[in-house]
Amino acid sequence: MFAFTSIEQFHAQLLEGNVSCLQTVEHYLQQIHSTKHLNAFIEVYAEEAIEKAKQLDEKRKKGSPLSKLHGVIIGLKDVICYKDHRLSASSKILKNFTSLYSATAVERLLAEDAIIIGNLNCDEFAMGSTNENSAYGNVLNALDESRVPGGSSGGSAVAVQAGLCMVSLGSDTGGSVRQPADFCGIIGLKPTYGRISRYGLIAYASSFDQIGILANTISDAALLLEVMAGADDYDSTVSKKEVPAYSSQIPTGKKFRFAYFQETLDHPGIDPEISHAIKKRMALLRDEGHEVKSVPFELLDYVVPAYYVLTTAEASSNLSRYDGVKFGYRTKASEVDLTDFYKQTRSAGFGKEVKRRIMLGTFVLSAGYYDAYFTRAQKVRKLLFDKIQLIFNGQVDSQNGYDFILLPTSPVTAFTIGEKINDPIAMYLADIYTVMANLAGIPAISLPLFKHSNGLPFSLQVMANRFDEVSLLQVSALLMSPGIPRENPMH
Ligand code: GLN
Repeated sequence: MFAFTSIEQFHAQLLEGNVSCLQTVEHYLQQIHSTKHLNAFIEVYAEEAIEKAKQLDEKRKKGSPLSKLHGVIIGLKDVICYKDHRLSASSKILKNFTSLYSATAVERLLAEDAIIIGNLNCDEFAMGSTNENSAYGNVLNALDESRVPGGSSGGSAVAVQAGLCMVSLGSDTGGSVRQPADFCGIIGLKPTYGRISRYGLIAYASSFDQIGILANTISDAALLLEVMAGADDYDSTVSKKEVPAYSSQIPTGKKFRFAYFQETLDHPGIDPEISHAIKKRMALLRDEGHEVKSVPFELLDYVVPAYYVLTTAEASSNLSRYDGVKFGYRTKASEVDLTDFYKQTRSAGFGKEVKRRIMLGTFVLSAGYYDAYFTRAQKVRKLLFDKIQLIFNGQVDSQNGYDFILLPTSPVTAFTIGEKINDPIAMYLADIYTVMANLAGIPAISLPLFKHSNGLPFSLQVMANRFDEVSLLQVSALLMSPGIPRENPMH
């Protein structure tokens, strides 16, 4: 039976002739079939995947060297364009829409011979933390099917968690890669804003959105980042900075400087077990010769409100294109004037949470309230940005900047299905630890290091300086290495 550990191992198996791409695809199709009830996939591209696998097996037989992602089975969140494949952002408003082009990230995966196996369920337009806001229904957490997988990239997380693909792509606007990774016990990486092109990623909040990676190992996440990152003529917000060979830079014996915010660990909303485990892990790091220090942080109460004001504002503008005229769902009503046509299309096409956010965003941008909400939230974002810059680049205490900031990913473990769906404020507040990285544009990773007494996994989150994914991956490999006892037996 095929067992996946890492891309490197998989390639070794292919080269030894122990397995073929075709057998691998068949294995994954079987797994997907037998876990259909988890509802992770929206569509499975079975025939195409089989065809591609056969081509790759031929290519190998002819002696071609393996491309970086030869035969690697990847799932895509349903917000990432793949030419000639359906794409809906899990929304009724894009039902039956087919992509006319592929996202730059997808093009780059395909150029390295990856096999895209299907598209994955998510919260509608990536708005949510539980995957409950999907036109296709809930996704179940494979570790405990009464629990949500997190969101918005819930399908992407479960697909990796349950072994339905090797790695998957998600999008992270305020935690949508890291939080579901946390709830499902896998790794979730959100790169620096501008590291991976957003061309072909359905926009939620354009100044926050970033494609992210869900994986089982740091080396797999590093390899995918290396393949997808870098300049793109189709997205002017992507950095032209050279892309380091992330996948060959992982081992390190360096001693690092870690900052943390006491406020995040003493917060009334955090599960004490999570706070305790993170404190213990920090003590262990100190024992190993790293520096771990608390840095004053007075902005914690403002990050969630700032995030929800700014992202809903951007969303209200981004989502105005779904009007039933150019593409997607259109109301069946006849004899309506144009205004009613828009109203009826959008009322029926969008789900409840998306409508809530469009209204909230329209409100905070309206002339009378703009300064009170939008401008203020922008100021909070700037303060946070400056604070984070100071921690990494400046003189916070007597020495130069820190290498990393440590914090939890989520204040609690996976919610039960339905637990928070009628309390949007409670749901929003649980984003407290993930939105910071998006507000500041810095890279962050969620590492599944712990197991709660309730049996569920939870993670340590590490944030690094802008474009310092090299160090972020190095320290992640260190934290995930068997040298440090891991309390999560799943990996
Ligand atoms: N939970 C957050 C929200 O609902 C995160 C969304 C995301 O990162 N796409 O906005």
